[in-house]
Amino acid sequence: MLRMAIKALSVLVDRIRPPMSGPRILIYHQVGAGSGLQMDVLPDVFRRHMEWLAYHRKVVPLAHALDAWNDPGSERLVVVSFDDGYRGVFDHAFPVLVELGLPFTLYLTTEPIETGRPMSGAPPLTWKQIALMAESGLATIGAHTHTHPDLRDLEPEHIEEELATSNRLIWERVGVEPVHFAYPWGYWSPQADPLVRNSYVSAVLGGTASDPQTFDPHRINRCPVLASDGFVFFRERLRGGLRLEEAIRRVVRGYRGP
Ligand SMILES: [Zn+2]
Repeated sequence: MLRMAIKALSVLVDRIRPPMSGPRILIYHQVGAGSGLQMDVLPDVFRRHMEWLAYHRKVVPLAHALDAWNDPGSERLVVVSFDDGYRGVFDHAFPVLVELGLPFTLYLTTEPIETGRPMSGAPPLTWKQIALMAESGLATIGAHTHTHPDLRDLEPEHIEEELATSNRLIWERVGVEPVHFAYPWGYWSPQADPLVRNSYVSAVLGGTASDPQTFDPHRINRCPVLASDGFVFFRERLRGGLRLEEAIRRVVRGYRGP
């Protein structure tokens, strides 16, 4: 109830604030895992999101959005990204994406995929499934560290090891060299920043920024899609970012970064 009131208020606040600029990069995590978590979207809701995007927006590969960032009309471009690499993405999201021919990006946390251990209570993708998605020609394979640590708390040597291990495993298992990165938890880290810039052509963060940002390909804010968005607030999130809700989520999570 409170959540919905905040969302409704966020829509109003978005309308009176300067509009968001640039392509929208959506963050999904689980699809159809039955967890009840905010990061777990129902399969039929996911399908409705994609059908709406296919009709009303231009869903593009990440590289395309990066190239076109400052072009006029780029706010109609949408990138669909999935963090961590949950099996539900293959089971429930991938068939819809193939059917509609929509490109997407996977940011993979390699340790759970390598060991098969669940993440947030849900099984990870297998390398075989990742290879199939890569072969479809729709998937961009990005990196999301090996063990998903909070990079704000790590020494540079340890960060370097996290990046190198994930890059190596993705290369060895699916033959793709990841050139795009997502910060674990979406949290930017000053000591990781130079290493990330050195290893990848782009890097994304967790949440929507409150104010318009100048485009920095290694510090890109995204729009997290929550289960509570349903369909109505999904469209509002694309339009205005639900920036008030995002600002509240930052405070609740104790994140003060970009
Ligand atoms: Zn993650």
